[in-house]
Amino acid sequence: MHVVSIMAHQDDEMRCLGTMLKCRDRGDTLHFVTVTDGSGGFVQQPDISREDGARIRHEEMTALAKAAGADYLNLREHDEYLYDTPEVRHAIIEALRRTRADLVFTHYADDYNLDHTTTYQLVRHCAMHACLPMVRTESPPLKAHPAVFCVEPHGPIPFPATHFVDITAYEDRKIGLLQHHVSQETAMQLAVKAGFDKLCRRPDAYWGEKLGCDYAECFSAMPARGAVKPFAVLP
Ligand SMILES: [Zn+2]
Repeated sequence: MHVVSIMAHQDDEMRCLGTMLKCRDRGDTLHFVTVTDGSGGFVQQPDISREDGARIRHEEMTALAKAAGADYLNLREHDEYLYDTPEVRHAIIEALRRTRADLVFTHYADDYNLDHTTTYQLVRHCAMHACLPMVRTESPPLKAHPAVFCVEPHGPIPFPATHFVDITAYEDRKIGLLQHHVSQETAMQLAVKAGFDKLCRRPDAYWGEKLGCDYAECFSAMPARGAVKPFAVLP
């Protein structure tokens, strides 16, 4: 199975990375897609230019993907100014096809960041179009609509989780991999006085406690035609 994370920013994979590592151990192939260039991630450091920011974010995500045995596709849209345009739709349809997506993780419909909710809308629409021969891109159409699961948003947003994955055996590895986002560890410490360790262990332990394991990730199946499967997809 081809497992694809399609997120607005480099590091948004933090809510599904444990599950993706578990997928890899069952023989799946992993892909990371980011829609923006991440150049707006230096919120407390205005001296870092957009160009340098984008370069740093790309290098960090590339290193994480390599360490996770995954490939990485960066669509490089302007961070914090992501809009649903014909060009972006085309790029996401092509990304879904090029990765031969069977299982997709993306953002939830509500979130604190509009790049996230725009990505949700784009994936919802493009996952349908990726199967349609009428829509022509470089790669051939998908044979079937991928299963799509939304990750838990950050912030005080109600999240109707429908699926849970025990990632107890993967929590340390997940947090270790996220340390490749060196710039964002710094940015988050400056902004919210917490880094990847705290931002992952707290929610993962919360869900784990409810499920009877140490750490878990939770998902909401995207309520779109074709995106919900009548068989088990998650590990
Ligand atoms: Zn983000």
